[in-house]
Amino acid sequence: MELERHEYDVVVVGAGGAGLRAAIEAQENGARTAVVCKSLLGKAHTVMAEGGIAAAMANLYPEDNWRVHFRDTMRGGKMLNHWRMAQLHAQEAPDRVRELEDWGALFDRTPDGLISQRDFGGHRYARLAHVGDRTGLELIRTLQQRTVALGIDVFMECTVTRLLTGPAGDGGPDEVTGAFGYWRESGRFVAWQAPSVVLATGGIGKSYKVTSNSWEYTGDGHSLALQAGATLVNMEFVQFHPTGMVWPPSVRGILVTESVRGDGGILKNSAGNRFMFDYIPDFFRKETAETEAEADRWYDDKKNNRRPPELLPRDEVARAINSEVKAGRGSPHGGVFLDIASRRSAEYIRKRLPSMYHQFRELAEVDITAEAMEVGPTCHYVMGGVEVDPDTEAARVPGLFAAGEVAGGMHGSNRLGGNSLSDLLVFGRRAGLAAAEHALKRIDRTHLRDDALADAARAALAPFEREGGENPYTVQHDLQQTMHDLVGIIRTAPEMEQALERIAALKERVANLSVEGHRQYNPGWHLALDLPHMLVVSECIARAALERQESRGGHTRDDFPATDDEWARTNLICAQAPDGSVALTRQPLPRMPAELADVFEEVSAS
Ligand code: FAD
Repeated sequence: MELERHEYDVVVVGAGGAGLRAAIEAQENGARTAVVCKSLLGKAHTVMAEGGIAAAMANLYPEDNWRVHFRDTMRGGKMLNHWRMAQLHAQEAPDRVRELEDWGALFDRTPDGLISQRDFGGHRYARLAHVGDRTGLELIRTLQQRTVALGIDVFMECTVTRLLTGPAGDGGPDEVTGAFGYWRESGRFVAWQAPSVVLATGGIGKSYKVTSNSWEYTGDGHSLALQAGATLVNMEFVQFHPTGMVWPPSVRGILVTESVRGDGGILKNSAGNRFMFDYIPDFFRKETAETEAEADRWYDDKKNNRRPPELLPRDEVARAINSEVKAGRGSPHGGVFLDIASRRSAEYIRKRLPSMYHQFRELAEVDITAEAMEVGPTCHYVMGGVEVDPDTEAARVPGLFAAGEVAGGMHGSNRLGGNSLSDLLVFGRRAGLAAAEHALKRIDRTHLRDDALADAARAALAPFEREGGENPYTVQHDLQQTMHDLVGIIRTAPEMEQALERIAALKERVANLSVEGHRQYNPGWHLALDLPHMLVVSECIARAALERQESRGGHTRDDFPATDDEWARTNLICAQAPDGSVALTRQPLPRMPAELADVFEEVSAS
C-alpha cells in the first residue's frame, strides 16, 4: 500500500479556533506539532462566528467579573454544565482575549479606547468582545498568523478517517499512537505517528436538514473518539438557534446573528405582536423586563431596567418561535419577523451589522435597514461531546484530548452566545499544553501497526469495491430528514423510537454504499466516508434524547415538559459496545464545591 508517513509529538485534528489555539500552545511548549484540516486553512467554522467572544473584562460594566459570568453560564446551561469547566472558562476568558490582542487582533473599541463589549442573550452584562459582526474572522486571522509564524506544519484539505491506538508499553489500556487519513484532492493515504492527538473537529450540524453549519460538520471527531474507546457526554443537547434565514429555500438555515437582537432587534408575529413577552419562564422572570417600555429603556439604562425577553437564552427563544409558527401566527415562509429597521437608523445597522446587511441583500433581496427579516430556528451547535477531564481536556483514552465544540460538559444543556469562542481559546490552550506534556513524557513510543494501517485503508476504499450499492447523497438526505422530523426541537418517545428504527435501517444502507470513479477529488466518496460518522452521532443523539425523560435546555420533550430533580443530577454517557453499537449509561453529575454554589446567592443579591 502506498502511504505517506509522518512523525510528530502532537497532531491536532481541526484548524478552527480550538485546533489552532491548541497547536500554538503545544508547539510553544516544545512539542513538534502538526495541524490537519478538511478544508483550506482559515475556512473553519470559527470564521463564521459573528457576534463575539464572551469574557468578563468589565470594560463597560465594572460590576462584571468571572463569578457573574460563571453564574450566567451555569444558569444558561440549566445547571448541567461541568462546574469546573464553567469556572475555568469564566476565569481565563479575559486573559485569552487580551492575549489575542497582543498577537495582533483588532477589536472594536469603547469611547475610552478599551475593547468594546456587546450584549447577548443570557449574559447579565455586555460582555462580548467583537469586531463588528465578523469576530470569528479576526480570531482565525490572528491565530493563523501565529501558527504560520511558529512554523507549525499544516496538512490542509486532508481528512482523518481513523484514530490509531495500540497497547501501552506499561501494560495499561490501549493508548493513542496516531491517526490515518487521506488527501482530499488526490485520494492518497497519509498516516501520522504521534503519542498525543487533539480532536478539534467542531460540530455535527450536517446530520440535520436545516442548519447554520457548513459541509464540514459531520461529527467526525465525536465518532472517531467513540471508535477509539472514548466516551461522549449528554449528546441529547443540540442547540437550535432561534434565528436562521427561512427564505429563499437555498439559504434556509443560514445564521442571523443574535447581535441583531442584542443591538435592538425585536421579534414579531404575523399580527405584529411582540410575542416574547408571552414566553418568559419563571426561572428567568425576575431578571426580564415586564413591559415593552422597560425592555426598550434597558438598551440605554441597564442598571435601572431589566433585559428584553428577546435576549432570553436561545432555547427559550427558539421554542417560542416554534410555538408561534405552530399556532398559525408565522410569517409567509414559516418563520417570524425580526425587526431592527423600525428601531435603529440605517447608518447604525450598516455599521454594527455589516455582514447581516450584505447577507440579506445578496441572498434574499431584503434591505434590513428598511424591512423586517423572516427568521426561524436552525440547528446550530451541539452541547454534547467527548467527555474530558476539565483541567487537561484528556479523554478516556490515554493520549487523546478534545477541545472546542467536539468536547462536552462546558455548556450543560444550552450554550450562551459568545461562550463558544471563549471556550475554544480557554480549552484549546489547555488541551495543547496537556497534549505536549503527555507526548514529551512518552520516550518509549509505540509504533503504528501495519495491520491497523491496512485495515484503515481497506475501510476507506470499501465504497469503490461495491457495485450497484446505495447512493451516499440519497442516504444523507434520508438521515437529515429523519433527524429534522423526529429528533428536532420538540421531541416525543414514539417519534424518537421511529427515528432509531430508521437509523438502524440507514446503518444497513451505509454498509452498502458504493461510489463510482477514482480517488482523485471525488465528493461522493468523501460523503461516503463522512456518513458513518453522521449516523453514529445521530444514534447517540436519539438514544440519549429518548432516555432523558424531562425537558431541559436544548432538549424539549412534549411528553415530559418539566425539568426533573433526578435528571438534574444525571449525565448520559455514550460508549461503543464491543459489537459496534452505542451503549448508554447514566452517571452522576460532578458535585459543585460549596464556595462556588454560594456564588449564585451572592450574585442574585447584588
Ligand atoms: P471549527 O471551527 O468548527 O473547526 C473544525 C475544524 O475541524 C475544521 O478545520 C475542519 O476542517 C476540521 N475537521 C473536521 N473533521 C475533520 C476530519 N475528519 N479530518 C480533518 N479535519 C477535520 N460562537 C460564539 O462564541 N460567538 C459567535 O458569535 C458565534 N457565531 C457563530 C456563527 C455561525 C454562523 C456559526 C455556524 C457558529 C457560530 N458560533 C459562535 C459557534 C462557533 O463558531 C463554533 O462553535 C466554533 O467556531 C467551533 O470551533 P471549533 O474550533 O471547535 O471547530
